[in-house]
Amino acid sequence: MTDSPALDDLLLAHAAGKLDEPVALLVATHLALNRPSRQRYQRYEAVGGMLLEELEPCEMDASALTATLARVERGPNVNGAIGAARTVHGGRPRRWPAPLCHYVPDSLDELRWQGFGGAAEAEVLPEHHGYRTRLIRVRAGRAVPAHTHEGEELTLVLEGSFRDASGHYRRGDIEIADASIDHQPVADPGQDCICLAVTNAPLRLTGPIGRLLNPFVRI
Ligand code: ZN
Repeated sequence: MTDSPALDDLLLAHAAGKLDEPVALLVATHLALNRPSRQRYQRYEAVGGMLLEELEPCEMDASALTATLARVERGPNVNGAIGAARTVHGGRPRRWPAPLCHYVPDSLDELRWQGFGGAAEAEVLPEHHGYRTRLIRVRAGRAVPAHTHEGEELTLVLEGSFRDASGHYRRGDIEIADASIDHQPVADPGQDCICLAVTNAPLRLTGPIGRLLNPFVRI
């Protein structure tokens, strides 16, 4: 998906710095990979800047400077950042776009993978205010178990591509799914598909075997 009201809402919220870190990370990585979204996002930022200029100045709380400095100290700030799609470190090109480099090692072997079906997942961020942030790796031509969602699921394609009933998603595309969507993403043949996925509630397996497994698995 490259243009839809739901994606625009995400870009606007990101420009306003209103997204929590897991979602901000996903959107910042999407922006590094997708030029049309980057252009829209820069327009939103410009509009936001003009609105700020029109606001009356107000007195700041004494703790505001300390809080701002603490945020700078904490390191990479994915709120509002537009990172490059390709970065170089120590003379070698990095695997991931700039925003993600701070969170995910280049080598997939350094992550702790847990398999399910033709797919595996690895936590990228510790659970954060109810969000789970994971890399999902689906073997070429294989499927993720059919499932629906108790909340929202954002999936950004980092490598390869996948298809489900709602469309075809390539590098840089985001799929937005919720409780109304029951799907079974299938990686295209030829290359493993690696995605960054952020969910704010558990998934629920819906296939015949998945329904039996639901009480025992947490995905
Ligand atoms: Zn899903």
